[in-house]
Parts: sequence; structure tokens; C-alpha cells
Amino acid sequence: MKHYDAVVAGGGVIGASIAFELASAGLSVAVFDAQNPGREASWASAGMISPAPESSEMASLLPISMASVRLYPEFLQRVEELSGRTVGYRNDGALDLFLNGTGQKEINDILTLHRGFGLRAEALSGPEAREIEPALTSELRAAVHRPDEASVDNRLLTEATLEVARRKGAEIFPGKGAKALWIEGQACKGLQLQNGRVEARWTVIAAGCFSAQIEGVAAYAPVLPAKGQMMALRCDSVNLKRDLWCGHMYLVPRHDGRIIAGSTVEYEGFDRSVTVAGMKKILGDAISLVPVLESARIEEIWAGLRPDSPDHLPILGPTDLNGLLIATGHFRSGILLTPVTARLIREWVTTQKVSEDWAPFSPMRFQQARQSRGA
Ligand SMILES: Cc1cc2nc3c(=O)[nH]c(=O)nc-3n(C[C@H](O)[C@H](O)[C@H](O)COP(=O)(O)OP(=O)(O)OC[C@H]3O[C@@H](n4cnc5c(N)ncnc54)[C@H](O)[C@@H]3O)c2cc1C
Repeated sequence: MKHYDAVVAGGGVIGASIAFELASAGLSVAVFDAQNPGREASWASAGMISPAPESSEMASLLPISMASVRLYPEFLQRVEELSGRTVGYRNDGALDLFLNGTGQKEINDILTLHRGFGLRAEALSGPEAREIEPALTSELRAAVHRPDEASVDNRLLTEATLEVARRKGAEIFPGKGAKALWIEGQACKGLQLQNGRVEARWTVIAAGCFSAQIEGVAAYAPVLPAKGQMMALRCDSVNLKRDLWCGHMYLVPRHDGRIIAGSTVEYEGFDRSVTVAGMKKILGDAISLVPVLESARIEEIWAGLRPDSPDHLPILGPTDLNGLLIATGHFRSGILLTPVTARLIREWVTTQKVSEDWAPFSPMRFQQARQSRGA
């Protein structure tokens, strides 16, 4: 049986970036994936690097979100240089859009929320927003400009990160999913695969919304799939610069001229089907923001499964099993949180200290909740 310093279950962008960091620190690393790595949420995503919390309840995410935004340029430089690939990073900011009928209070609340967290946010009138994004609808009442937002082509990023993990020496095993944790006493000794076991000092669970299917993991990472439907449009007469948001709907321009439109949030188990209702909603919203998109070509439709947790916060850090680390539950922010997640896991593995407070995301919080309920 082969022994590694670290084994990672899951080769999405989270598992790949962890493998890259650990291998870069000189550890022997292996990634086991149930299928071809990087074909799940990390492939389906919109790729926005958006630290703005959607509500005050998500405030605890802000410190690590900001840390990840700060880490992004250096992380991307390393990935792009070592892989020899570009990953479509754009940092032209985002606009939160408010159509006619939106009250001033709603706009003020958004400004207060952002500024309260120290994020730059500037109020624009409809005409001011149309000056910087001329394709926007004349029905626009106002906008909030968030200049510090960015995006990346998540498919390219995931592929490039898998590549640099390999180049740093990580071994990647497609089609070899983890069946169970290999537990002896109070220690996790590695993973049980379909055929045999693999031993490691550190075991990292990063299997996205599938993590809880690995026997022994659900107590630490009770994740659920949250389906998001998406579409890619191409329209020669539109040249969007910024990511556009309106409620939960968004349009994200890509470096290759495509515009990614999304999304829904649906709790339908592991179903990945694209529905008429989903497409109708996304198209209707897209056209209401940028009317000329009516003439766009639909290049692709798809759906992916976000790894959601009971409190919608990530699940990161050590457990009460010696050697077992969890890195999942990133829900709608896994691309944003990739560099900081990989950094924190590497810091813990190499020094048992971390540079950000990750206590709010501890995998032990679900066990404590169960114990206090007497379950
Ligand atoms: C429609 C949509 C839009 C999104 N938009 C954004 C956005 O704009 N910005 C943002 O920050 N985030 C966004 N997200 C969220 C983000 O994409 C995810 O949080 C992130 O990709 C999760 O990465 P992951 O590596 O944890 O999981 P995944 O990418 O799902 O990877 C999990 C991997 O584990 C493998 N696996 C499954 N079972 C096993 C097993 N038993 N053993 C080993 N491996 C296994 C899978 O095959 C897969 O390769 C979006 C997600 C979706 C679906």
C-alpha cells in the first residue's frame, strides 16, 4: 500500500488548489476523484470573485473573502506561470442594478451594508450607469458600482490548477472515488477506495456536494447539492465590461466574448437537469437588464451542483479525528475562496497554525449542535 503525506478526496478547484499548495510545500500528495476531476461545480460556476456579502447574516464570511481577494493576484500568477495557460481573469468591477420600482431604501441598505464592511460602493443614477455600460436598459433606476469585484474563467482555472498540482508532483487519480474514511481509534489513517486503501498522515475531504456520501464524513460535513442552471450567450452588438447583478440574477462577461447568464438556486437532490422554467427565468431576467440580448445566440446551457451547508457557510479545518481535515461547503463562493482555502489548509498541515480565524467554519460545529440538541 502506498503512503502519502496527504491524500485529497475530490479534484475540483478546491481539492486541486489544496494539492498544489501542499505539493509546493514539499509534501507527497495524491488526489482521488470519483470521475474526471474538475467537471462538477468548479466547471459549472460563473467564476465571480465577489466578496460582497448578500446579507448581514453572511458577515462572518467577509474576513476570509477579503483575504482570498488579496491572495488572488499572486495565486493566479503562480498558476498561470507554471501551467503556461491564462485563466481569463478580469477585474473591471461589478454593478448592482435596480430597475424602476425599486425604492431608495433598498439602494441605501445595499450601500450601507457594503460600506459597513469596508467595501467600496458608489451610488450611480440610471443615466450614469448607462454611460459606463451603454447596453443597459433605459428602465434602469439606479445602480451601485462595486469597483473591486473580479471574475475568472473557472473552467480554465480548475484545469490549470490541476495541471500545476501535477507539475509540483501531486498524483491525480481519476475514476477512483473515496468510499469511506479509514478510521482507527481517534485517528483518520487515510481513505478507503473501491479497491483497497490509501494511507496518509493527512486526509483532506474536498469532494464538494458529494462529500457527505463518503462514509464517516457526514457528521463533519453535512453538505447538500444546490442546483444552479446557467447559460452562455454571445452577442456581437454587446460589449459588457462589468459583472451585472440584479437580485440573484447575474451576467458575467468572459474574456472570449461569451456572456454567462445565471442562475437558479434549487434543492432537487443530485439532479442536474436544465429545465424550461429555469431557462425562461434566466433569459427573461437577462433581457430585462440588457434588452439587446434578445438577438444573442445561445451557445451552451448547463446546470451544476453547489456544495451547500446547513448554515450556508464553508466547512473548513481540523476535526476530532487526528489527521482529518475538511474543505467543502463553499456554496456560492468556492471560486472566490479558492486561494484562501488552499493557503489555510497548507498552513495547518505544515505549522498547525493559520493566518485567518477559521473557527466560524469549523467542521465540529455540526457535532456541537447535535450534542446540544441531545441527539
Ligand atoms: C451555477 C453555479 C454558479 C456558481 N457561481 C459562483 C461564482 O460566481 N463565484 C464563486 O465563488 N462560486 C460560484 N459557485 C460555487 C463554486 O463553483 C463552488 O463552491 C466550487 O466550485 C466548489 O468546488 P469544489 O472543488 O469544492 O467542488 P466540485 O467542483 O463539485 O468538485 C468536487 C469533486 O469531487 C469529486 N467527487 C465526488 N465524489 C467523490 C468521492 N466519493 N471521492 C472523491 N472525489 C469525489 C467530483 O467528481 C468533483 O470532481 C457557483 C456554482 C454553481 C453550480
